[in-house]
Amino acid sequence: MTNNVLVLLLIILFSTSCSKKLKTVNLTSIVDVDEIAIVRSDKKEKCNCEDPIAYIPDDRFPEFQDLKYVRVNFHFPNASNKKYNWTGEKAVTFSEKLIKSCNYQLINNIKMNLPEGNNTPVYDAGYRMELEEDKSTSSGMAVYEDVDDENWYYIKKGKGKNNYSKAIIKKFAIKKDSLLNFFAMAYPPDSLKVKGFSSGRAGIALGTSLKIAGVRKYTIDEAWKFASVSNHEIGHVFGLRHSWYKSDGCDDTPVHPNCWQSAESGKCEGVISNNMMDYNNIQRALSPCQIGIVMKTMHKENARARGLVKKDWCEYNPNKTLIVRKDLELNRAIDMKGDIIVEKNVTLRLSCRTHMPAGAKIIVKPGAKLILNGAKIHNDCGQSWGGFDIQSNGSKKGVIEYFGKVKIENLPNGQTGESDSE
Ligand SMILES: [Zn+2]
Repeated sequence: MTNNVLVLLLIILFSTSCSKKLKTVNLTSIVDVDEIAIVRSDKKEKCNCEDPIAYIPDDRFPEFQDLKYVRVNFHFPNASNKKYNWTGEKAVTFSEKLIKSCNYQLINNIKMNLPEGNNTPVYDAGYRMELEEDKSTSSGMAVYEDVDDENWYYIKKGKGKNNYSKAIIKKFAIKKDSLLNFFAMAYPPDSLKVKGFSSGRAGIALGTSLKIAGVRKYTIDEAWKFASVSNHEIGHVFGLRHSWYKSDGCDDTPVHPNCWQSAESGKCEGVISNNMMDYNNIQRALSPCQIGIVMKTMHKENARARGLVKKDWCEYNPNKTLIVRKDLELNRAIDMKGDIIVEKNVTLRLSCRTHMPAGAKIIVKPGAKLILNGAKIHNDCGQSWGGFDIQSNGSKKGVIEYFGKVKIENLPNGQTGESDSE
């Protein structure tokens, strides 16, 4: 063999191995996606996107479990003499201190007391309160003094009972669809003199607003004393029910007699609940399932309460890429802030709503499989996302499979698409 022939052979060998180059096809319209997708079934495989268990914090995937921030404003209803509630800087300070205390409890969630001997894990609640700014007020914060001589006070029992009344909310709530309107109310001084008047810390959630009562019974520095009742009411706003009942939708919150405090004997003897959604003198613990319910609500498209969550998932963040390295079935809605990469030979199954930020892509590597199981993929911010990058390397290809009705919306090219499997 001459040297020339050897060189030629080497060149041929080299060039054939190079022909197995990585190829990427970017699908940016529903027509493109439909063309490439393999229809596996006209039925969605069983998956309940509303199951709170699917929303329990999972350390493996911080990319789509960023903290959710609830936007809050404060109202301090008062009579026209301005005598009965916090005003000016004091009202702002009270609001700030209370929010800080609420967040402290959400960060420092505590272990469940019940059932006795439980091993229920303890997670950070995964959400926080954030006081909204408002340039139109003198403090620059969304803290308001609502003057209403008829409705400024709160009475929870007996004569003049108005705890369920929405009058003050209807009159003064601001941006109810995007802000949690927090009414920090006082008891009427006259009523406080009446023997037996119910004047403990109290509260009620009414739609996307809430009222708490008794804020003038304590000093500004004691604002923290309202953290538990506030978190309890905020819990209601985001779908939590009283947990001493069986019907609260959680198996990790046992039925119990709902004792305020422990007693020497009787039904309240021994260990009592410390759950945030019971009535007890601790009201601190949130179970994993309860956190799951709050997260489920915060991710539920069109849920009123989702509107109160700061929409911080619109902007693309290259540091929030979800890299799927092992087979993964996501049975929950997610709000992505970056790309999704399905690694070689790995399968990702999406069955619920997935938000992709502006320009973000779902990259399916050679040999990887993306199953869209009745899934919806969209951009929640009225922008378009980057579509699917399907990669191949020789005969090894990335694939998309459809099960049931798949909705792919907000692609850069072409309108919203809905794919039927037939
Ligand atoms: Zn309640």
